[in-house]
Amino acid sequence: MQGPASAFAGRRAVLATMHGKDRAIVPAFRDILGIDIEVPDDLDTDQLGTFSGEIERAGSMDEVLVAKARLGLKVSGLDLAIASEGSFGPHPQMPFFPVGLEKLVLIDAKSGLVAMEHSVDLTPCYASWETRRMIDIADQIQATGFPDQAMIVRPNNGPRAIVQKGVQTFENLEAAIVQAALVSNDGLAFVQTDMRAHFNPKRMMSIELLAKKFADRLCQTCRSCSAPGWGVKGTEAGLPCSWCGAPTAWILHELMGCFMCDNEASQPRSDGLTEADPAHCPYCNP
Ligand SMILES: [Zn+2]
Ligand SMILES: [Zn+2]
Repeated sequence: MQGPASAFAGRRAVLATMHGKDRAIVPAFRDILGIDIEVPDDLDTDQLGTFSGEIERAGSMDEVLVAKARLGLKVSGLDLAIASEGSFGPHPQMPFFPVGLEKLVLIDAKSGLVAMEHSVDLTPCYASWETRRMIDIADQIQATGFPDQAMIVRPNNGPRAIVQKGVQTFENLEAAIVQAALVSNDGLAFVQTDMRAHFNPKRMMSIELLAKKFADRLCQTCRSCSAPGWGVKGTEAGLPCSWCGAPTAWILHELMGCFMCDNEASQPRSDGLTEADPAHCPYCNP
């Protein structure tokens, strides 16, 4: 038992998820925080938006995340809830590379705490193809880790309702592509990696790592108000150039903060780097 380290030891929480994420989330919250997690059977989080786009997400990622957790509180009648949300797309600075953003929230209705943690995956299993025939993309499909990594198939241009999710055999994939291409206005099927965690092993792994990071953070308490979750809330640029000492755009300090009060503190980068490469200096390398 590691109860004494955690303000949550012995509490029961609802995990607002439909997609088997409990496998990735339960162990860290149980072993590190002493929280006992239950997953309700009748929680329809898809009403808050789906990856395959039949239902648009209502609001920002954070809003959906908090709404999921609050739905969990309501359905379960418990006073502690955890929810997870992911987002995938092109990297904002390097649009040819995909990037995944995972977030977890913990809401404690007893204290009013709303704590969040996130992680960035620069190598998510996230890809899509437009195709007429399965054979043209079979190698690329296989390279994703198919069939453990499942596929979603829909018409490239046309009725969005005709979507096949969780496709995990080449036989079903071929049939789905033929069917989708047939009804698509341009004769193409749109195939993409299924991003639901239980159909995307890479994502499941990211969530597992994030759950551990979040649970560790929730063991840290604020020195001012003792709320759990003290941790990095932002960064400050200005790491000095190793040649001339001028401030660069590189991170100088990590800004630590609390979810409940305004207490803040700066700390040096956790990787120990104290000087920036002159290639990134506004004076040495304009
Ligand atoms: Zn505080
Ligand atoms: Zn310089």
